[in-house]
Amino acid sequence: MNVTFPHMGTLHIVLKAMLTTLGVRAVPPPPISKTTIEIGARFSPETACLPFKTTLGNFIQALEAGADTILTCGGAGPCRLGYYATVQRDILRDLGYKFAMIVIEPDLASVWQSIRRLAPGGIRPLWPAFRLAGAKLRALDAIERAACRARPRAAASGDVDAERLRALAAVDEAATPAAAAEAVASSLRRLEGLPAGSGPPPLKVGLVGEIYVMLESGVNGDLVRTLGRMGAEVHPTMLLGDYVDTHILRDKAALRRSEAVAAAAAPFIGHYVGGHGMKSVGHTAAMGRTGFDGIIHVFPFTCMPEVIAKNILPVVSVQEGIPVLSLAFDEQTGEAGTVTRLEAFVDLLRYRRKRQETAAAAQKQLN
Ligand code: SF4
Repeated sequence: MNVTFPHMGTLHIVLKAMLTTLGVRAVPPPPISKTTIEIGARFSPETACLPFKTTLGNFIQALEAGADTILTCGGAGPCRLGYYATVQRDILRDLGYKFAMIVIEPDLASVWQSIRRLAPGGIRPLWPAFRLAGAKLRALDAIERAACRARPRAAASGDVDAERLRALAAVDEAATPAAAAEAVASSLRRLEGLPAGSGPPPLKVGLVGEIYVMLESGVNGDLVRTLGRMGAEVHPTMLLGDYVDTHILRDKAALRRSEAVAAAAAPFIGHYVGGHGMKSVGHTAAMGRTGFDGIIHVFPFTCMPEVIAKNILPVVSVQEGIPVLSLAFDEQTGEAGTVTRLEAFVDLLRYRRKRQETAAAAQKQLN
């Protein structure tokens, strides 16, 4: 069995560890490129959302590279995610590809059943596979958060990017949970040891929106790195571990955090609208009250839940006093246009912070 799966950020490292421990050959698609998106868009319905097109491109490239089984996700709720697997399977079959498809629904029982289908050697390696994949998932999230913190503070943000890549490779190679944890610990030490820059204190920017565009630098113009280089400390509101804890493991602390976000969204949006639309609103409101300088809201063009959020966020922005920049991505989006809009937004945030500091200093003198 040669198993492939869609890319989403560093998910391939986790899935590769799981499949390899189960004794299955993993065939990750090539990293997402213009070609991937072009291939996917060519065979997708025109109005399908960008993740549909890009993951279809992933599957075609992986099937061409020898994969014979596709591991992908299902979904429930009012958006289109629940149809992805069925429609993509039909498109790929019409194109003449021969393959099996395993669809994981977002609950632990489905994950368990799907993984068992992938365990040719019986259930013995299941626990070690889960443990190793889980350890790598935590390690990868820790590296992303540390890189977001270090980038705007370092004298050369390229050093942080290089260290991040080195750490990701070390986690990928780690054969045990302890080795993955050690890879993170050493990377954090190296990041802390990097020479500090002399620029102003970093801006604090929240990243909200649809999870795929938030996590996949191949479709979002690498905006986390770009913002870091511009002096912004990015706080992604959802990394892989957050998704797994909330939607698959149903971890109590993660569910409590979700409830708090829903409560923050409640004055602006009355019910679940699919995907992460409600969370985009709730996180923006909550971050507006906790000292963030601004919010970047990202989503695929035609993403129904996030289009709803986009139309609500201007009200949240005014009421909570926090600037919001919404960016939609599709196969036509160019990196230069994204960078220009981010530069303008960062300039605005710097100006706003300076004005707030001047006003605070004047008030202090009056007192
Ligand atoms: S959340 Fe948006 S992008 Fe994701 S599947 Fe649903 S409609 Fe498409």
